[in-house]
Formats: sequence, C-alpha cells, structure tokens
Amino acid sequence: MSKPITDLIHHPYVPPAGFAAPQPGVYKASTVIFRDVAAMRARDWKSKQGYTYGLHGTPTTFMLEERIAMLEGGSQCVLVPSGLAAIANVGMSLLRSGDEVLIPHNAYGPNRVLAEGEFRQWGITHQLYDPMRPEDLASRIGSKTKLVWLEAPGSVTMEFPDLPQLARICRERGVPSGLDSTWSGGVAFNGFDAGADMVVHALTKYPSGGGDVLMGAIVTRDEALHLQLKLTHMRMGFGIGGNDAEAVLRSLPSLAVRYRAHDAAARQLAGWLKARPEVSQLLHPAFEGSPGHEHWRALCGGKPGLSGASAEGLAAGLFSVVFHERYSVAQIDRFCDALRLFKLGYSWGGPVSLVVPYDMKLLRQPSVWPHQGILVRFSVGLEDADDLRADLEQALHAMA
Ligand SMILES: *Cc1c(COP(=O)(O)O)cnc(C)c1O
Repeated sequence: MSKPITDLIHHPYVPPAGFAAPQPGVYKASTVIFRDVAAMRARDWKSKQGYTYGLHGTPTTFMLEERIAMLEGGSQCVLVPSGLAAIANVGMSLLRSGDEVLIPHNAYGPNRVLAEGEFRQWGITHQLYDPMRPEDLASRIGSKTKLVWLEAPGSVTMEFPDLPQLARICRERGVPSGLDSTWSGGVAFNGFDAGADMVVHALTKYPSGGGDVLMGAIVTRDEALHLQLKLTHMRMGFGIGGNDAEAVLRSLPSLAVRYRAHDAAARQLAGWLKARPEVSQLLHPAFEGSPGHEHWRALCGGKPGLSGASAEGLAAGLFSVVFHERYSVAQIDRFCDALRLFKLGYSWGGPVSLVVPYDMKLLRQPSVWPHQGILVRFSVGLEDADDLRADLEQALHAMA
C-alpha cells in the first residue's frame, strides 16, 4: 500500500486532449453556463457531478478538496477562506440557541473569541476544559453539549493531550468532536485515527507553505455530517478562489519534505535553547519534560508517516520557551527586536522564521499556567538552522 504523499502526487487528473501534463489546469469562474433551461432548473448546488456556480466549486477547487481529503484519510472536504472560517463553519452548522460548545483552554485563541462573541450573542454558551485532564472534559459534557473542540498540541503553550482518550469520551457521550489539526499538517498524525469526527486544517500554514494564501478545510468521513457542513458553507457564501486553490495544489507535493525540514531545524534550535541559562522551560512536545510528551510519543512517534516509519516521530517547526523570571518584559522585547532572521509576526508555516512574545498571564487562567517568566513562541522557517542559531545567540547577547 502506498503512502498518502505518493497517492497525493499521483492523484488522477485528466488533462485536455493532447496535453499530457500532470500539473492540473486552473479554472476560475463565477458564472457557469447551463445547456438549457431544464438543466438550469435541475441544478443541484451540492452535487459534485456537475458545476452550477463558481462559489459552489470549480474543477480546481473540487480537485483540491479531493486531495486534502486523501491526505487526511477522509472521504469529503469543505474548503473555506481561512482556518478560522473552518472553525466558524463547524460551529454554525452544529450549534443553535441553547446549545453549548466545549473548547480546550489552550485552543487557538480566535476559536474562543468567536464563542465569546457571535456565538454568545446567538444564545450558544461555551465552557473551557483542561485537555490534560480527560476527567475534566468528561465532567463538563452535559445534555446541552453539541460540539467538543480538540487540538494537539495546544496553541502557544504546546501541551500535548491524550487525544484518543478525549475523542473516546466524546464518542461515548454521543457528542461530535472537531479536531483542529493544523499543527499536524496532515503529516505528523492522522486525526481520524485519533478518533475525531471532523478534522480541521488551516491550509494557510504548512499545506500552502508560502505564507501567501489564506484557506481552511474541514474533512469528514460521514456523508450526512459533510452535507450539514456543506449547507452552512453554501448559505454563508464561504467559497474560495481558483488562484488560491492553485497555490495550495502546487505546494502539496512538497508538504511532507517541508514538514520534516521545519521539524528538524526546530528540534535543533529548541535543544540548543533548552540548554541556555536564560531559558527556564522548553515547550516542544517531542522533548522530554514538555507537558504531554508521552502522548505525543504515543500518537506521533514510530508510526508509519507520510514518507515512511520514523522512529523519532514527527513534529511541526513550532515551539515556545519560557524565559527565567529574572528577565523583564522590556528585556524580552529587546531580545525579540534584536532578532534579524526571525521576524515579528503572526501565523506560521511559510519559509520565513517568526517569533511572538506572549504574556501568558493575560491568555491563561492562573490555575493552568504555573510559570512566572515571559513566553516566546518560535516558528522555524526554511532558513539554514546554523544561521538561525547565530541569530538567536546574538539576540540573547543583546538582551543581557
Ligand atoms: C493559524 C491557525 C488557525 C487559523 O488559520 P487562519 O487561516 O489564519 O484563519 C486555526 N487553528 C490553528 C491551530 C492555527 O494555528
């Protein structure tokens, strides 16, 4: 059996007659012309057997849907204009007034902000749960709970939960689970194997890989669930453009090698920073001593990955460090400002290394954030790792 990356690269595509190129053509359209009035009347927006309107899909967007579904081992995929739109699409499909959604306290921040904003206005409540204590999730699921979000590892603080256990609790209680699997890139582990009902990706990150596309995906294995998501997608007008689809299609074949390169460089730099006297805690799930390391090992270590079994396991090029509390906010700001190759900016997954300082006392409840020092999150790009290390070294020097 071939690996998903091979299937992805060899995914069938029928080029125009006489033009035997494997690279797919790019189709862009709003209007799709019907043969006659009868065909117009018989249109089915949801059907993939034909085309009705650019918003509902073109050959290019259908192909990207199929390839993302294949990458994640799912059956269907809905593409939306951003990763956050994928989270919103899921919530709008599954939740109505009086319902409740459970979100891990370390979830991607805007997921919680959406729950505090529009969803609250619409009469939908939410609770934050501690993903590192499955019993906390179990105790919060009630009759109103209609959706549970899962994420591994947590955004910024990188705790890796026992995902299969959390998904099992949702299944036993009959509540659909949505996994934000952006960190995995569809490479480090399989979200459906971990037990999720819906797997969400910000294609903005590694699948696009260029730092030049915003897009999200919701992958499912259940046709009824997919149709429910697709109906919301249609009613909200969450379509994507052909040029953006093309950019992701072009980047997908190199996804696995890029992921491994980001991973290798990040581990090298994380290991180096961990040994530095300025750093009190490294938060990278592949390192012993990082919260949930054993769960990362169980899910991502030594499993057949996209390009063969890896005894080491795979991880994204993301990690955070907590500086010793003796360093002031101003000093950490100076460190970040002194970096030349690591740029200050949000998002990740592109070629340029990025850094963001966070005051976790503002982002987490004190009960789940034991550290005093300032946290800095690094996203390692595709630059030479030795150059990045030299950059870190000179910035640490400038800080002191
Ligand atoms: C970036 C990110 C998103 C949102 O993606 P956008 O395309 O920027 O909206 C969602 N979840 C996680 C975990 C992310 O890192």
